[in-house]
Amino acid sequence: MEKYNFNAGPSMLPREVIENTAKQILDFNGSGLSLMEISHRSKDFQPVVDESVSLFKELLQIPEGYSVIFLGGGASLQFMQIPANFLIKKAAYVNSGTWAKKALKEAKMFGEVVEVASSADSNYTYYPFGFEASVPEDVDYLHITTNNTIYGTEILKDPDVKVPMVADMSSDILSRPVDVSKYTAIYAGAQKNIAMAGVTVIILKDDMLGKAPRELATMIDYRTHVEKGSMFNTPPVVPIYSMLETLRWVKKNGGVEAAAQRAHQRAELLYGEIDRNKLFRGTVAEDSRSLMNICFVMNDEYKELEKPFFDFATERGMVGIKGHRSVGGFRASCYNAQTVEGVNALIKSMREFEAKY
Ligand SMILES: *Cc1c(COP(=O)(O)O)cnc(C)c1O
Repeated sequence: MEKYNFNAGPSMLPREVIENTAKQILDFNGSGLSLMEISHRSKDFQPVVDESVSLFKELLQIPEGYSVIFLGGGASLQFMQIPANFLIKKAAYVNSGTWAKKALKEAKMFGEVVEVASSADSNYTYYPFGFEASVPEDVDYLHITTNNTIYGTEILKDPDVKVPMVADMSSDILSRPVDVSKYTAIYAGAQKNIAMAGVTVIILKDDMLGKAPRELATMIDYRTHVEKGSMFNTPPVVPIYSMLETLRWVKKNGGVEAAAQRAHQRAELLYGEIDRNKLFRGTVAEDSRSLMNICFVMNDEYKELEKPFFDFATERGMVGIKGHRSVGGFRASCYNAQTVEGVNALIKSMREFEAKY
């Protein structure tokens, strides 16, 4: 049976990305050696890093004066590495979900943190839009989480504020154009929208580096990795290769503008069905609906059908639709690699299930 992968992360990747990476794991560039066996400093691997950097710059139209680095440690390491490098006295954070809250907690170890807006009071069922007005002008940066993976809320445009911004784009990077010039840093763990787990992409504004009033451990100082082109120590070679394949795939399929169109198309189909189907309802405010993580629950009068629908959809090939434990119900993650065919298969299950009741 065909499987339709709605996992929230690690998540679906384009088939050709997986196949091409598998080939290189068996025989890297015809060298007779596996991608897993070569030196990261070999003359064949450096071009993988170089092409990945240049594709990021091209796809996201990253202006001059920015560096792109690839590190281990996940987005979670960035929760502390960002304030370690950029928090001089005071930073502003938008508390829009679990990941945002974790980022905020780490920042407090490095200085004063102002929580400029929060939707925690309603279990993060909306994006706290309008936070721009509460951002103090004397903060070193404003940190936002552009897509709240767990709750399914998203800010689909770059905010307008008078201070530089830092964004956790782990679950929506490369799904739409971004005005990188507004940001001091953008970071993303790869395993939602870019690659297999193991690498984190960080886009950094060079002239903001080296200003923090503290000594930084070598590995924590971004300058170490910028100066060495992500080769200060051994980078995650196979995840970086799989990322390169995804970047090529995004480019081949029309870049981030086309990715945004496809994301809108998938989301309109699925939210349309959630709104139409008497058994289900969405969990977040309409203006906050994420294009990436689409959360829904059974309507109150059909609460007892949650487990039966889960089983029904699973029998029809749906994978990973169980909602996060803090929301319940269902979450269909529709990252770049998700297809209209996959979304339609889920919609078909929802309709067939509705017809039974
Ligand atoms: C998954 C996720 C993280 C955590 O990523 P790790 O790479 O596992 O540390 C952080 N932020 C967001 C928005 C996420 O979706």
